[in-house]
Amino acid sequence: MRRSAAAGGLFAAGSLVPVSALANQASGEETTQAGRSPAKVAGGKVVQPQRELPVLHKTSVLVVGGGCAGTAAAFSAKRLGVDVTLVERYGYLGGLATGGLVLGIFPLYSRENKQVIWGFAEEMMKKLDVLKYGIIDRHKAPIYPTFDAEVMKYVLADMTLSSGVTAFLDCWGVDAIVDGRGGVRGAVFESKSGRQAILADIVVDCSGDGDIYAAAGAAFEKVKHNIGLISRIGNINEVDMAPTRGSEGLQRQHEHTFVGKVGTGRPSMGRVSDFNGHAGNATPAPHVNWLNMAGPVGDALDVANLTELELKHRLGTWSNVSKLQNKPGNEQVYLTETAPQLGVRLSRLLDGMKKLTYDEIQNGAKFKDVVACSGAYALSPEFQIPYGTLVPSKVENLLAAGRCISAEFKVADITRLIPVCWATGQAAGIAAALCIQDQCKPRNVNVAKLQNLLKQQGAYLG
Ligand SMILES: Cc1cc2nc3c(=O)[nH]c(=O)nc-3n(C[C@H](O)[C@H](O)[C@H](O)COP(=O)(O)OP(=O)(O)OC[C@H]3O[C@@H](n4cnc5c(N)ncnc54)[C@H](O)[C@@H]3O)c2cc1C
Repeated sequence: MRRSAAAGGLFAAGSLVPVSALANQASGEETTQAGRSPAKVAGGKVVQPQRELPVLHKTSVLVVGGGCAGTAAAFSAKRLGVDVTLVERYGYLGGLATGGLVLGIFPLYSRENKQVIWGFAEEMMKKLDVLKYGIIDRHKAPIYPTFDAEVMKYVLADMTLSSGVTAFLDCWGVDAIVDGRGGVRGAVFESKSGRQAILADIVVDCSGDGDIYAAAGAAFEKVKHNIGLISRIGNINEVDMAPTRGSEGLQRQHEHTFVGKVGTGRPSMGRVSDFNGHAGNATPAPHVNWLNMAGPVGDALDVANLTELELKHRLGTWSNVSKLQNKPGNEQVYLTETAPQLGVRLSRLLDGMKKLTYDEIQNGAKFKDVVACSGAYALSPEFQIPYGTLVPSKVENLLAAGRCISAEFKVADITRLIPVCWATGQAAGIAAALCIQDQCKPRNVNVAKLQNLLKQQGAYLG
């Protein structure tokens, strides 16, 4: 599918206007917003009138959400030569891994400390490796690597600009576009440009919350998990080498909500906690720690709940740092930042062609359509993720990747972790590209071909 001449993405000619050319552009003319169709109040109901939407862009593969899964999907699809568009609601890429300040990369390793997630994940870590203060604790299993959020944002911006992927940031996916037979044909977005459509042959939902598959009518399970808010604190001199488990595991144990087994030993700097005045874990930035947080179980699809948590978590973090400042030796510690976005773990889980079960990962089930592998804390040496977990049970032209794929809650609690999202994103991106090249539906993708391409891009499939 060709790009529309009206395309206005980061790569569109003339999109970078010199500052000098912006001076004195105020027209002085009074105008009204074109294409207005405000909602109307009638009979006590608020009704949005039907209207035609401008088409912002046409693409072959549309990836919605620019977190770990979305960026992996977009770049991996583009490498196969298809036309790819990536849309993200915020002004930076990385999702929770940057805006959420989630900086630790679990679960790269099997129980035997063998790295089992490669491909795009390893590529990202290599890019972070060569940048100053980019990443620490590489190749030190069972210690997991920790990266810097700003370095990650830089890497992803650079990759986007050089990849040939068309990107739209500050653009929120609000609806699906479906054809008469229920097949997805793109998505509707809201931005400062108004409400616009992007038409696509295949849509990959990497929104983390399954916003687009839900809008398209795909079946899903709504789940609730702990919602936290991560922060970074500076001027940290405290070096507390008390052994902890992976911070996610330890956090949830404190909250008494985790149902599975957790934890490989992970020596760390400082301890991780909610509001107890602990010092968090080391980051690549000198004297800066990150404070993971479990937070209470919440409804990530309820704006009132999200608002309450945004506000209360910021107060809690402030009080946590104040407690820390009262500890002798930590007087100079300060709150560097609270994450721009809330730490939503899980909200929607797709009802896919296959739902990965806890029994399967515990028993090391092997799948003919394996497209990714994951370490599994203490559950099993490693486990396979089948392609069917990325494909909706019913709706066509649609794939999902990242934390909203088709898995039982306890499994999703692992497949939601950063390197696994990179792995499922890479698989979904390549699958989407194959749909374009082979003119087929996601459920009919030639899995052997997909697996070969994944291996060519460096993935480990067990
Ligand atoms: C508090 C917390 C601590 C964690 N700790 C760890 C850890 O220590 N180690 C680890 O490996 N993992 C950890 N995780 C898990 C991990 O960070 C995330 O699950 C993972 O980064 C998710 O990647 P994703 O791409 O699937 O989703 P996200 O990172 O959520 O990305 C989704 C992207 O889509 C965008 N988006 C959402 N909706 C829309 C829309 N409608 N339109 C357009 N764009 C949209 C978002 O802005 C975002 O950029 C933690 C998670 C939390 C919340």
